[in-house]
Amino acid sequence: MSTTILWLRRDLRLTDNPALEAARHCRRLVPVYIHDPALSGRWAPGAASNWWLHRSLTALDRDLRQLGSRLVLRAGSTGEVLRELIRECNATRICWNRRYEPGLVLADRELKLGLQATGVEVQCSNASLLFEPWEIARKPRADATAPYKVFTAYWRACLERGLPGMEAHPRPAKLPALPGGVASLRPTDLGLLPRVRWDAGLQQHWQPGETGALARLNAFLENNALDYAGARERPAIAGTSGLSPHLHFGEIGPRQVVHAAQWRAHNLAGNGGPQIEAFIREIGWREFAHHLLFHFPDSDREPLNHRFRGFPWRKKYADDLNAWQRGRTGIPLVDAGMRQLWHSGWMHNRVRMIAASFLTKNLLIPWQEGAAWFWDTLVDADLANNSLGWQWVAGCGADAAPYFRIFNPVLQGEKFDPEGRYVRRWVPELSAVPARYIHKPWSAPPSMQGIRADYPPPMIDLGRSRERALAAYRQG
Ligand SMILES: Cc1cc2nc3c(=O)[nH]c(=O)nc-3n(C[C@H](O)[C@H](O)[C@H](O)COP(=O)(O)OP(=O)(O)OC[C@H]3O[C@@H](n4cnc5c(N)ncnc54)[C@H](O)[C@@H]3O)c2cc1C
Repeated sequence: MSTTILWLRRDLRLTDNPALEAARHCRRLVPVYIHDPALSGRWAPGAASNWWLHRSLTALDRDLRQLGSRLVLRAGSTGEVLRELIRECNATRICWNRRYEPGLVLADRELKLGLQATGVEVQCSNASLLFEPWEIARKPRADATAPYKVFTAYWRACLERGLPGMEAHPRPAKLPALPGGVASLRPTDLGLLPRVRWDAGLQQHWQPGETGALARLNAFLENNALDYAGARERPAIAGTSGLSPHLHFGEIGPRQVVHAAQWRAHNLAGNGGPQIEAFIREIGWREFAHHLLFHFPDSDREPLNHRFRGFPWRKKYADDLNAWQRGRTGIPLVDAGMRQLWHSGWMHNRVRMIAASFLTKNLLIPWQEGAAWFWDTLVDADLANNSLGWQWVAGCGADAAPYFRIFNPVLQGEKFDPEGRYVRRWVPELSAVPARYIHKPWSAPPSMQGIRADYPPPMIDLGRSRERALAAYRQG
């Protein structure tokens, strides 16, 4: 009797899952997830991602059981575990969806060739991008193609090609049963949850899994999408979709998101078009990030703009880095963002830019340090998006903010958090400071300060550190 293995990786969903669709027409189906953090090398998932993964695997198992199947969990070296499972179940076919991080692409390629050499049929699909990274290319000459480095040109090319519609991969009503006796670990055996339970804030904010992802998409389209272009810049309100961790783990796919958003715009008969377009464009940035990391495989650690290779970053900065990580810089908006991150595993995009600019420009700490901290603490930590975000802010990326664009956290706060609601929420030491001083409490007259004694003074002068950064740029 034919057995197919469905190897689930970054596609933890049952709807619009091409590998599942390819695999499910068989007599016996073995859905497996293999925990092998060593495969990702230096980018093994961080603590917040592990928390998410635990919950997402639990949800996926529950969903699979409703369809007459279950999730087989294994741990160890991917190749060995797969070969062992193939022997155990007498499997003749394996289906998976591609991942695009450089190290994983190489590992998949080797594995595929090895399996095919032993007579196993391998079928690979795309579940996580609108376009695979090699599908969109410039044509600098008639006989050559090259990757894009500028977002607007890249996105224009995507739109000209036409965003893919939703393929007909609805959630199956039933799945073939597993062969008898296939053993599985339990999610708790993988040791993904923190030993010291710091995750209460994460529990409060998120519902990992496909059901949670669809609920978020629907709530966003229903309540916030029509205001997206303006509301997305306001950290005090839930103006964005909050889909990033769901997209990262593949609990929902970009095709589903784009299709649902376009459908919403269509139903509004043109009224919400520009807002929805702005939202879909952000999905475009996610695509662009994957395009860049695929074509420039060392851009997770090396500046894309080679001019920055010898940039005079500071060498000794441990205490300053620690203050930034803990949200104790004395700059209210930066501290609010870093505390939101620590508490909820997520930070608003505008505040990510401001906190990153403060670290790389005002403090002159290498962007790779910030990227590593985000990697460990974000529930949506994603190598492509994180590398693009940090390189963009540091000014050394392909299509980056110019280095001399240094975010002023006071002016940014006054513009995007005018009443200081976001700061007050995350920095309670400042809750009594009047709105006009909330982003620069050090400048309030003593009678009006209201700053709790345990809040630190600014760790650096914003104006002088800006000048120092510009001088470093001229020298670098
Ligand atoms: C320094 C820095 C680091 C970042 N690190 C990450 C990361 O590790 N993982 C991550 O998913 N995003 C990262 N981003 C991008 C962005 O901040 C988040 O994707 C966004 O805040 C997620 O919230 P949302 O889902 O509500 O976004 P929405 O505004 O609702 O956008 C919808 C989706 O589009 C994608 N998207 C939105 N903005 C961007 C962007 N600038 N670049 C790439 N994709 C985008 C995300 O998948 C997001 O879920 C980073 C940005 C910066 C400046």
